[in-house]
Amino acid sequence: MTNDSKSTTWEACPQGTLSGLTTGLKRQHRREELRRVAGVVSVLLIAVTAGWYAVRSTGDRPEFHFGGIACSEVHQAMPAYLAGDLDETVVQKIDTHLAECPHCQKYIQEMHPANAHASVQTSDQPKTTLVAARF
Ligand SMILES: [Zn+2]
Repeated sequence: MTNDSKSTTWEACPQGTLSGLTTGLKRQHRREELRRVAGVVSVLLIAVTAGWYAVRSTGDRPEFHFGGIACSEVHQAMPAYLAGDLDETVVQKIDTHLAECPHCQKYIQEMHPANAHASVQTSDQPKTTLVAARF
């Protein structure tokens, strides 16, 4: 009888209560961890972005403005330029820039080697004649 009275104070939980509690705790734990990871990731992202901008704006990638257009603009417009999708005025700016900017000449050779070779080898392309006319 005494055993029985003791056991009644420790009633068995209804099925699923413990697993429900554990999943709830796990979920909470996961949420906290996610929040912590998200915080770390956002701090890292900010640091990397700031570092990238710092490197970009200082020595690593110089900005020249030959032909009235900046290196970064030339790089951005390069796919459209090579595809022939640009305004004639923009194309002329880029041609002038490419003729004078060693940085962008190197960029084209590295990023678009096939196009760099093509524009050097084929003399009947308007791009090449424009660039050649500058020399
Ligand atoms: Zn340039």
